[in-house]
Amino acid sequence: RLAAGAAVVGTAAALVLSGCGADEEEATGAGTIGVAMPTETSERWISDGETLAAGLEEAGYAVDLRYAGDDTAGFKQADQVQAMIDGGAELLIIAAVDGAGLTDQLEAAAARDIPVIAYDRLLLESEGVDHYVTFDNYEVGVAQATSLLQGLGVVDADGEPTGDEGPYNIELFAGSLDDNNAHIFWQGAMDTLQPYLDDGVVTVPSGQVDIVEAETWRWSKDLAQDRMTSLLAQYYADGTELHGVLSPYDGVSRGAITALALEGHGPKIADGMPVVTGQDAEAASVKLIREKMQYSTVFKDTRALAEEAVKAALAYLDGEEPEVNDTTTYDNGVKVVPTYLLGVSTVNRGDIDEVLVDSGYYTDDEITVG
Ligand code: BGC
Repeated sequence: RLAAGAAVVGTAAALVLSGCGADEEEATGAGTIGVAMPTETSERWISDGETLAAGLEEAGYAVDLRYAGDDTAGFKQADQVQAMIDGGAELLIIAAVDGAGLTDQLEAAAARDIPVIAYDRLLLESEGVDHYVTFDNYEVGVAQATSLLQGLGVVDADGEPTGDEGPYNIELFAGSLDDNNAHIFWQGAMDTLQPYLDDGVVTVPSGQVDIVEAETWRWSKDLAQDRMTSLLAQYYADGTELHGVLSPYDGVSRGAITALALEGHGPKIADGMPVVTGQDAEAASVKLIREKMQYSTVFKDTRALAEEAVKAALAYLDGEEPEVNDTTTYDNGVKVVPTYLLGVSTVNRGDIDEVLVDSGYYTDDEITVG
């Protein structure tokens, strides 16, 4: 299901890869919906794109699905969204690479009364965002920090202090700072860790406790590996033990774990692998959790998010307003965007079968080691 990116375009008969002009609209009897996704390097966005396309096509729409390759040149996604607008898209669903990088396109969409749904990541600095579907991003950060503290033994399964006073050495990683989510994950995590940092139960030997120092640009695995390697060289070469790593995303976790493994940590948590958190339940990381290399991940059911986005899109296209359950949290700099929030769950080794396999998110094969 999550294999090659090519499967994304292969599955959908009505999928429009480019252009998407009036011909396709006539052919389907409905319009075309533009779906802009950030990257195919992370499984979750492939899955999001597939589920969105399938749901919209089932409702009779053609789908112009494009991936921006994380937009390293800076403008790829803006060009893609512009092409969708020029091609006659009736509605846009966008997971931005750079949250504030699409303001011109959103203005153009608003001028043509094209509804815009921000998908997972908030679109910033624009009036032209009508609706936002996402997970409870603050809770993601809380879940990551709580899991880290649980892994260290500082809090129990309910998140209550165990009385273990440490001190434990941890290092902190944040996501890409042009993604609004990175800030919210960090906020949730730091609010949770702060009392334990204040009491000295956990400490950060590098002193890098500012989000700017902890940033992982574009959520890059390689940059995370480089940063972990230099942290180990600078602050741990004298034998100081590292007990935990707060990581906001499974790719970043794998980068950190690679660096740790190269430095001789692991392969079992019990044998000295620090507690490493994550997010997205990517298959490669679920395998690492099975192998006791990664401690946990935060699972966000992207199928449910895509379904919510499809529901919202169909509401707009029927001339109605989509359902929201949060109208106060997500200020994009110029307006508070009405939001539909979904919940998240932490996955530890013991939860894999129940949460990920029994729910049909993965087959056992997809996450079997070896
Ligand atoms: C998403 C996460 C994802 C990260 C990197 C964030 O905006 O909410 O699920 O791990 O981007 O792709």
